[in-house]
Amino acid sequence: MTAVDAGGGAAVLPTGARPAAARPAEARPSAARSAAAEPHDVVVVGSGIVGLGAALAAADRGLSVLVVDRSAAIGGSTVRNFGHLCLTPQSGEARRHAIAARALWLRLARDAGFWVSERGTLVAARHDDELALLDELAAARTEHVLGDRPEIEPLDERALRALAPVAPGTTLGGALLPYDLQVDPRKAADAIRRHLESRGVRFLTRTSAGSVRSGRVETSRGPVDAGTVVVATNHDLDQLLPDLAERSELQRCGLDMLRVRAELARPLVAPLLTGWSLIRYSAFAGTAAADDVRSRLHAERPDLAALDLNQMYTQLPDGSVVVGDSHVTGAAISPFQDERASVAFLDEFRALFGAEPVVAERWQGVYASGRDEFVVDEVEPGVLVTVVATGIGMTTGLGLAEHVVGSHLDGGRDAALAASRPSSLLTGSRP
Ligand SMILES: Cc1cc2nc3c(=O)[nH]c(=O)nc-3n(C[C@H](O)[C@H](O)[C@H](O)COP(=O)(O)OP(=O)(O)OC[C@H]3O[C@@H](n4cnc5c(N)ncnc54)[C@H](O)[C@@H]3O)c2cc1C
Repeated sequence: MTAVDAGGGAAVLPTGARPAAARPAEARPSAARSAAAEPHDVVVVGSGIVGLGAALAAADRGLSVLVVDRSAAIGGSTVRNFGHLCLTPQSGEARRHAIAARALWLRLARDAGFWVSERGTLVAARHDDELALLDELAAARTEHVLGDRPEIEPLDERALRALAPVAPGTTLGGALLPYDLQVDPRKAADAIRRHLESRGVRFLTRTSAGSVRSGRVETSRGPVDAGTVVVATNHDLDQLLPDLAERSELQRCGLDMLRVRAELARPLVAPLLTGWSLIRYSAFAGTAAADDVRSRLHAERPDLAALDLNQMYTQLPDGSVVVGDSHVTGAAISPFQDERASVAFLDEFRALFGAEPVVAERWQGVYASGRDEFVVDEVEPGVLVTVVATGIGMTTGLGLAEHVVGSHLDGGRDAALAASRPSSLLTGSRP
């Protein structure tokens, strides 16, 4: 973890290695006061992936940047997810942001030195209608935006089993989406933060933003003057800008997640999606075949449909597997996780992999869920809102931030901020 030092520069404090006399720099009143007192070209509220992307867009343009976050460490959605950068299953604006984000992820992984896997996404199909859906999207995706390979490569049962430890006889085959990426979300955000600090971006933690207006953010450490303000607060937009959140029909989506260890037949070389994912992400869900898949899955497994399951898996570099996820949406999410979701995750894991999972960790994640996939606005001159309002912020967030913040800083008014439309301006079908 790194922090603003007393002199206002970037200081590197290795995690856990705290000299007895030292306190985290942002805990030193003088350091925090200094960071809060100085004006910055850009002040970003929120240090998740969207806020980091906004800071990157500003730093790339040579501007001074302060990132304010009320937490002591990056701990929101950005560390609680699968680390699956699933660009192929996106459509519309989400696809454009995802393609832009892909290049930024690859650049950041190199510059900031964190793990990224370029092995794509695997889809395990367990029914003919799922194969038909994959074929339909493959036939429609003829453009070569990312390289010479098709975006969706069919796999027969044997080929899928060579890449994923699925038990014999459980699948009919599936597909490889070769351009998708994977990161370890627990490591990537901190690495990006350290990288940005090395480039002069300052982070002010344990500091709440109470209000934003043109040129100023009021924080729990006092006012901070800013040329441009970026709000990247995810679902907590409803606390900072409640009217915009209401207009955007913003709610919270709560998800249950597990990390398990298991004796798998072979490593899972890439994130693995199932039929439940095919009725969720917009490019899959927009196919004609999706109706058949949805009707069948809901009829066969109303218990899993009731959990709003997205049965998917990613294997972390240490060999453990992230398992999820269920979805429940509302103004507030109960902190008390219903064990039925975990039981279902573990049953489905056993059935697909033929292996016994041992739970290492359980957690709940929350993300913004809105009418549209993105809430983008300029609520006052120079006060930009960038919220991913569905569960694809790791895939799209860096691209969204570059698109909205970068083009604003370049002097152009972003198309997404056109005056005729008040809010939630980048639309797409919801996953
Ligand atoms: C369980 C789960 C699985 C997911 N899986 C994937 C996946 O595999 N692929 C994918 O693309 N997406 C996935 N997502 C979605 C993705 O993680 C999110 O869309 C993304 O991380 C949102 O990033 P963010 O920066 O907007 O929010 P966050 O990471 O939540 O950051 C927001 C920050 O704002 C701060 N903040 C809020 N209000 C204030 C305030 N008033 N003052 C100061 N600070 C404030 C918070 O402390 C927080 O640090 C998943 C999400 C969850 C929960």
